[in-house]
Amino acid sequence: MEGNIKLMREDGLRLDGRSLNEMRPIKIQTGVVDRADGSAFIEWGANKIIVAVYVREAYPKHAQNIDRAIVKARYNMSGYSVEERKRPGPDRRTMEISKVVSEALSSAIVLEKLPRAEIDVFIQVLEADAGTRIASLTASSVAVADAGVPMRDLVVGCTAGKADGKIVLDLSKDEDNFGQADIPMAILPRTGKVVLLQLDGDVTEEEFNEATSMMMDAMPRISELQRNALMSKYSIEDGE
Ligand code: ADP
Repeated sequence: MEGNIKLMREDGLRLDGRSLNEMRPIKIQTGVVDRADGSAFIEWGANKIIVAVYVREAYPKHAQNIDRAIVKARYNMSGYSVEERKRPGPDRRTMEISKVVSEALSSAIVLEKLPRAEIDVFIQVLEADAGTRIASLTASSVAVADAGVPMRDLVVGCTAGKADGKIVLDLSKDEDNFGQADIPMAILPRTGKVVLLQLDGDVTEEEFNEATSMMMDAMPRISELQRNALMSKYSIEDGE
């Protein structure tokens, strides 16, 4: 992260015209992969991510947990999801994102209800434009619910950070690349439990608190989009 590129306009708005606490537009759809048990598609700004969930008995048998389910999220970026073609296959970053997403989802799923099961969450990033781990997690949570997996809550997340010395919500690609900090966070909204929190860069304690409170203010709006996505699928099917 570098701090010497101008990320704020003279009028106090961000380069893409957003105010400091303004999100990019988000759209979520469920039921987009027929053969999956559950699925979701999310567009978050210019990010486009598809998630397919499959629930099955864990195999081989010695990998099973006799008293609960295992959650395996696999985050993958398509070669042409970024400006310069990304080398295919897992790397440190994709393994890290798979791990943090698996852990966050595990906190939301009632794992004891599905002993011996494996919940596979395949995340395919078709277009990446900063904030993909949180967009992936937000969509994965909807896809897992769409699969009928018992959940305590729908995990919801967003990102804040520091750009040109100011705390901003939902970093753009430029703010992510050239800003001073990137803080993705996800919670279980019913209890407020934090299930993902990372910090890349430097912030003071005061700035950190400002960033988390900005994110907490935005979470209910994203939760609503998740619920609407699930409800619109089922209400259309019921009405047919
Ligand atoms: P997140 O996508 O959660 O913000 P990062 O902060 O690690 O995760 O990445 C920020 C952005 O950088 C990504 O959304 C993507 O647009 C871009 N990016 C990540 N990995 C690569 C890569 N290997 N090649 C080109 N761009 C990448």
